[in-house]
Amino acid sequence: MDLNFTSEEEAFRQKVRTFLEENVPRSGLGDTREGREDKEWLARAKAWQRRLYEAGYVALAWPKEYGGQAMDPVKQSIINDELVRARAPYLIGGSGLGMLGPTLISWGTEEQKQRYLPKILTAEEIWCQGYSEPGSGSDLASLKTRADIVGDEFIVNGQKVWTSGAQHADMMFCLVRTDPDAPKHRGISYILIDMHTAGITVRPLVQMTGDRGFNEVFFDNVHVPRKNLVAKLNEGWIVANATLFHERNMLGSASGSEQRFNRLLALAKTIERGGEPVTKDPVFRQRLADLEIKVQAMRFHALRQLTDQIRGKNPGIESMVNKLVGTELNHDLATVAMEAMGDDSMLAREDPTALDKGYWPYEWMFSLGLVIGGGTSHIQKNIIAERGLHMPKSR
Ligand SMILES: Cc1cc2nc3c(=O)[nH]c(=O)nc-3n(C[C@H](O)[C@H](O)[C@H](O)COP(=O)(O)OP(=O)(O)OC[C@H]3O[C@@H](n4cnc5c(N)ncnc54)[C@H](O)[C@@H]3O)c2cc1C
Repeated sequence: MDLNFTSEEEAFRQKVRTFLEENVPRSGLGDTREGREDKEWLARAKAWQRRLYEAGYVALAWPKEYGGQAMDPVKQSIINDELVRARAPYLIGGSGLGMLGPTLISWGTEEQKQRYLPKILTAEEIWCQGYSEPGSGSDLASLKTRADIVGDEFIVNGQKVWTSGAQHADMMFCLVRTDPDAPKHRGISYILIDMHTAGITVRPLVQMTGDRGFNEVFFDNVHVPRKNLVAKLNEGWIVANATLFHERNMLGSASGSEQRFNRLLALAKTIERGGEPVTKDPVFRQRLADLEIKVQAMRFHALRQLTDQIRGKNPGIESMVNKLVGTELNHDLATVAMEAMGDDSMLAREDPTALDKGYWPYEWMFSLGLVIGGGTSHIQKNIIAERGLHMPKSR
């Protein structure tokens, strides 16, 4: 097996790296990955995605007719690695790029693809995900938000919760119940809702990081054109799962974990315990070694998935493994950093004396959210056990 990139791919990597060195915004976007209602911040975040898109570095694998470049997945993977390496700000249009876009490419009508995909790429329209409801998280199919068909419209009533980015979203991909009498998985439809429509109220929820990243969203007789239905009426569950699959693939990044590990190592070398750097402590060294073994295992897992993609094989249960192991690993890395820092781990980002600019306490809280969001670890384990290992179904 040859894990090296070709010389053409290496040249591409160098080109991307140079571009990022010259263009990554170093101020004004900060490390915060969610929230911020500030309009100027939003404009800067959109401008950054647009800049990257215009340089040809966004969604390379998408079909050309919708603004992509139909390139092989290796180049996209190189870009993803380089973005992490350059500590580039996250892309504000991530939900559209990583979740809705690939779903529409497979399931959308031609009109929907033409209408929505190009504006996802340029961050002209920002999307949010309306799945979870009070009482319907892991048991998503029990959702109650209703859409009744009146003429050529859906009339939507109900409530979503934990909706990331709804405060600045223009559109929502949303699961609604269109047949209350059908078995719960069969009466759901997948629709696209303009967030500027009358009858929608967005109420922010404050996370433990202090960010206002997610929201409650209320629908009171919201009119949605019927042409905004994706796939068939009452058959939204299968589309919902396609989106979830893309989401889970997006949540664990091997290069992101590798970069966090390197940052943890650099931090640990600066912290003394008993007159020596903590990296000389045999117990701490053992913990670092355990983490690095997991980081490397994830790296090879990512390379295996890339090989499958190049061969045109649909990724299966591997994306669940990414999500499960990647998000827990990121939280473990932050936990070890917090332990190494001791009392200093109490100092947050705003404190000028905080170690490593207060990155770790924030990361520790933020990474815990990702262990839950997109389906909790327990749910990933159930799916891996049932569909990957073919073990008996949990009750
Ligand atoms: C940071 C973050 C961002 C989010 N963004 C969005 C978003 O943009 N859009 C959106 O729709 N939702 C979003 N969510 C919601 C997320 O999808 C749900 O929180 C998640 O699916 C869990 O649902 P719940 O919170 O209702 O927990 P519950 O389903 O009530 O689960 C509670 C506990 O019970 C366990 N549990 C439940 N069922 C089982 C089972 N069958 N077997 C074993 N254990 C089980 C769970 O693992 C968990 O520990 C976000 C959540 C977070 C934390």
